[in-house]
Amino acid sequence: MNTFLEKMKAEMLDDKTSERLHSRILEISEIGRTEDEGSKRMGYSGLENEAKEKVTGWMEDIGMNVRTDGAGNVFGRYQGHDDSEVLMAGSHLDSVPNGGNFDGVAGVLSALEIAELWHEAGYTPDHSYEVVIFSDEEGSRFNSGLTGSRAFMGLIDEDELDKYRDPEGQTIDDVLGNIGSDRKRFLASRGQDCSIKMYGEIHIEQAKQLEEKDLPVGIVSGIAGATRTSVTFIGEAGHAGSTPMHQRNDALVQASEFIRTLPEVATSVSPTAVATVGKMEVSPNGVNVIPGEVELVVDGRDINEDQQAELIEGVRKHAESIAEQSAVTARIDLTTRIMPVPIRDEVIAGMEESFRRQGQIPVHLPSGAGHDAMSIGTKHPITMLFVRSVGGVSHTPEEFSHISDIRDAVLILKDFFENLE
Ligand SMILES: [Zn+2]
Repeated sequence: MNTFLEKMKAEMLDDKTSERLHSRILEISEIGRTEDEGSKRMGYSGLENEAKEKVTGWMEDIGMNVRTDGAGNVFGRYQGHDDSEVLMAGSHLDSVPNGGNFDGVAGVLSALEIAELWHEAGYTPDHSYEVVIFSDEEGSRFNSGLTGSRAFMGLIDEDELDKYRDPEGQTIDDVLGNIGSDRKRFLASRGQDCSIKMYGEIHIEQAKQLEEKDLPVGIVSGIAGATRTSVTFIGEAGHAGSTPMHQRNDALVQASEFIRTLPEVATSVSPTAVATVGKMEVSPNGVNVIPGEVELVVDGRDINEDQQAELIEGVRKHAESIAEQSAVTARIDLTTRIMPVPIRDEVIAGMEESFRRQGQIPVHLPSGAGHDAMSIGTKHPITMLFVRSVGGVSHTPEEFSHISDIRDAVLILKDFFENLE
């Protein structure tokens, strides 16, 4: 398989935007490049900072006014006619420990490319436009996630900050000190009071629906909220040799039945609902012991609140019915519920118009993963575009999106901002 650099060399670049995106993705990829040409830029690391500084330089080159908030989020402003409300677009530059070169980076550089094109054309947008780089989106450092964008929206409190410890034992206070900030400034967010007319984010799809449809870009129809339901099946442990089959109350056999039929629970809720069991503990967990107890966690997601509620209820009823039909008992506990972030119908309709004007076919995709747009969307209108991911892979050095696909997304989002009422 070709490496990232070989694939980049083979890219067709037939306009200025493609050339600029191509060379900038390469430049950012040098910061924290791993042996297999992936990226390692942890949130709040020197490398993430270096990448932010590089982009800041490009912003300043076209006269953008750049400032950084207490959470290390970088905002570059391209002046419009009116400052009462701002347009905003961006993403993140941090990566997972051995991530790819497009996740986040493509979004930041795309947002900047819109300003580049306006600058070249001498165009002034109706509203000032800010390109934003949110800190620590992946949350690999503190096991958090969307750290910068949630701080911006005032969604992180002192209690959460107190829990932050990275693998080297550093606290958030240590880390903020490195970027010239502190806890007080971190918590003093401005997103709540900021008048954001629209936040737009371009992100790689991290799945292969667009590839399957042979389309470069898709409209995100909503961002799913994750729910976690802990289900414990309690049976009876016993000797695997001496207990006859008819006298068993095997928790794992029932848990297996639960998992096998869980996909039907999700598909019966909606086409966008998903449910997964990725973690399970069997006890006593001995080769010659009948499992007495199985604890598993169902990760369930959907893009709107009602469907998400229906899914939670469906998972609970499913576990109860397994218990009713067998000798096990079930303990069911909803431990996490993150609300999905819907995308407004009129925003989607406006985006469809932009697709058509740009000669593209609008297709809708749900976002199963969280993105910075999710934080902003708790209060402000958002829009998101997905760019086709080759093979649907992400969070690995193999992650790849064609430059021409990213360019197409830039032109669509630019059109959308220019025509926003
Ligand atoms: Zn990302």
